[in-house]
Parts: sequence; structure tokens; C-alpha cells
Amino acid sequence: MTQKTAIVTGGASGIGLAIAQTFVRRDIRTIIIGRDVAKLAAAKEALGLQCHTIAYDLTDIAGIPKLVETITSTHGAVDVLVNNAGINMKKVFTEVTDEDFQRILLTNVTSVFALSREVVKTMLANDVKGSIINISSMASQYGLPKVIAYSASKAAIEGMTRAMASELSPRGIRVNCIAPGFIVTPMTAKAFSDDPERMQKAVNRTPLGYMGQPDDIGEAALFLALSTSKYVTGVVLPVDGGNSIGF
Ligand code: NDP
Repeated sequence: MTQKTAIVTGGASGIGLAIAQTFVRRDIRTIIIGRDVAKLAAAKEALGLQCHTIAYDLTDIAGIPKLVETITSTHGAVDVLVNNAGINMKKVFTEVTDEDFQRILLTNVTSVFALSREVVKTMLANDVKGSIINISSMASQYGLPKVIAYSASKAAIEGMTRAMASELSPRGIRVNCIAPGFIVTPMTAKAFSDDPERMQKAVNRTPLGYMGQPDDIGEAALFLALSTSKYVTGVVLPVDGGNSIGF
């Protein structure tokens, strides 16, 4: 079997790091992208030879075609793309500025579109049976207060997943989405640090009764990346301890 190559955006911390770890353990060559050079170096140190790092700010949309060209000329065709990088912002609705809103959409939606488009071009050119995995959130399904831009961005991701899946699956590229519940990462640490009540609320409506670990998402991503899920496309898979069906 030939070795697979994956890109994991935001792969140096939290959920992305766990996904990269799971891939590397299965001998998938994994390219992680992030902005923070020190975090990338630490991830590389932890993950070893199968991990490659690229420091890049994905909000630089114009540079994305060149970024993908550099990756494919160095590592060959990409089999798996995990669009994991994302930012959150908790703010009262009326205080969110147009700039705030655009900033979240640029990172969480526009860059996902631009990177996916470029990677799909190379998959098609190389006749790769690819897998694209997007990461949404419970925020796309509930009415969570104080996260207007984040909620809009994650709802967009789920819509894009279905649109991409129906257009690209006939061409051999599966597109799926994972909707994590409340997972212990730097992002949730920040969101919950000044709001213990919000955290308790999240846990209370989770039938399994605790927050998930990044690894839980890593294992789901591995399933969607490999041919074990070859008949799965266009789904939004909650990995949430039952949070989305909790009472
Ligand atoms: P973290 O904040 O730990 O990780 C986010 C990653 O995204 C960082 O590694 C960061 O790298 C990267 N990133 C952010 N902006 C950019 C950018 N412009 N260019 C390149 N990389 C960028 O968050 P999580 O691990 O918690 O979140 C990962 C994904 O999971 C996000 O999409 C989030 O919305 C989603 N999610 C998380 C949940 C949770 O409970 N934790 C729940 C539901 C969804 P760097 O700092 O180096 O730029």
C-alpha cells in the first residue's frame, strides 16, 4: 500500500494536534499548518519524522494556491485534508463589530473554501480518491448566546460540506464533517475560563457526563480519512458524548 499524505490545519494544538497524532500513528505523512512557529516546532518534536510543519496564516487567502503548490511539489499528491483551524470569539451581540465578524468568517469559512478548492484541484489532477474532513461545532446546531460570528461560520461549514460532497463524490472525493461537542482544548479553556456556569451547562446536557478529549475527535477523523469509511460522504458526525441529543 502506498503511504497517504494528509494536511491538518491548526495541527499544532488541541483537536488538530490529536488528529495529527492519530494520523502519524497510522503511518500517514502529516503536514500541519499553523501560525505559531514555537507551537509547530513542539508538535514536530512530539510527532516525529512523519510530521512536517508549515508556518502559514490561512487568512492570507491570495497565497493559498502557492502554499498548496509548495506542499504538492515537496510531498506529492494530498490524499486527506482536515480543515480544522478555527477561531472563536465570545462577545455580546451588539458589541460585535463588522471587523470582528469578518475576521471570524475569513478564518473559519473563506480560508476553508480556498484551501479545499486548491487541494481538490490537485486531487483531481492526480486521480486521488481523496477525503476532506471539515470541523463544525454544536454552535451550528444550537442557539448559543454570545458567539454570533462563530455560529454563522460553523453553520456555513456544514452547508459547504453537503454542497461539496454532492459535487465532488461522483469524482471520487468524499467530503464529511465532524461536529465536536465540548472538548478540552485551549479554545474551550479560554471560552469557559470566565464563565463556569456555561461550562456546567454544557456538561449537564451531555449524557456521558464529561467533556471530550481531543483524541476522541482524532479517532473519528481517522475513520473518515481511511477507506474503512469509503461509503460515507456528506455526513455531519457529532462526536459529543450525546450532547446534541441530551435533554
Ligand atoms: P485551538 O485554539 O486549540 O486550535 C486552533 C488551531 O487553529 C490552532 O492550532 C491555531 O494555530 C490554528 N489557527 C487559527 N487561526 C489560524 C490561521 N489564521 N492560520 C493558521 N492556523 C490558524 O482550538 P481547538 O483545538 O479547540 O479547535 C479546533 C477546531 O475545532 C476549530 O475549528 C474549532 O472551532 C473546532 N471546535 C472545537 C471545539 C472544542 O470544544 N474545543 C468544539 C467544536 C468545534 P496558531 O495559533 O499557530 O495559528
